[in-house]
Amino acid sequence: LLEIEGLWKTYHAHPVLRGVDLKVDAHEVVCLIGASGSGKSTLLRCVNLLEDVDDGAIVLGGDEITAPGTDPDGVRKKIGMVFQSYNLFPHMSVLDNITLAPVRVHKRGRRDAEERARELLDRFGLADKASEYPDRLSGGQQQRVAIIRAMACDPSLLLLDEVTSALDPELVTEVMGIIRELKEQGMTMILATHEMGFARDIADTVCFLSDGVLLERGPAEQIFSEPREPRTREFLQRVL
Ligand code: ATP
Ligand code: MG
Repeated sequence: LLEIEGLWKTYHAHPVLRGVDLKVDAHEVVCLIGASGSGKSTLLRCVNLLEDVDDGAIVLGGDEITAPGTDPDGVRKKIGMVFQSYNLFPHMSVLDNITLAPVRVHKRGRRDAEERARELLDRFGLADKASEYPDRLSGGQQQRVAIIRAMACDPSLLLLDEVTSALDPELVTEVMGIIRELKEQGMTMILATHEMGFARDIADTVCFLSDGVLLERGPAEQIFSEPREPRTREFLQRVL
């Protein structure tokens, strides 16, 4: 579904991604792990075309989205992205937050969009919150709404950047629950996370980034139990 080849990204002559290669199959869940500053968020932002890349190519569903002349809005229609800070619109109800993009960007009928939004809210246990405003919800509930909002556009790929790190521990579980459920439904996802337990549990593939280099990738079980690279081992010993 997604193929990244030789991706370079530099900020002010400081290379942040140095020749990253990454393939993600349809229905695969990939977790990006690595120290703070290793480039996880930058990689996700490049995939969503929120950053210009300096070299390399990103191919999504057969189309090179880094080619000149690509319409970034067209690409973003196929990709959902959720951040650590949920970024819900505070002046809009939960329902309006979720239907905004389907109606404005994807030109769906309001009634259709609302029906789909209610279905998603129902499935993820938030049916009674449809008319609430974000500030009346817990952090965990807001983050679940943010994920539902991303799913409402039926993306083919979902990017999740530290979606649990702003949450109290007891709220982390409910957000992880929704991600696990999306995996069961076959959603293709790339997650940047500091939650190693969660990565081990949910990832098909784990990628270890170190100073902008994708140093090691493998099945979650292998990376966590027998990492090949000394630096991966070092990192895991530090955080586990
Ligand atoms: P964390 O785990 O803390 O979220 P990360 O792995 O997501 O870290 P990035 O946010 O991708 O790391 O940052 C990688 C490097 O790029 C860092 O050294 C950071 O300072 C730098 N960087 C990120 N965004 C910018 C920017 N807009 N301008 C300049 N430098 C940036
Ligand atoms: Mg980050």
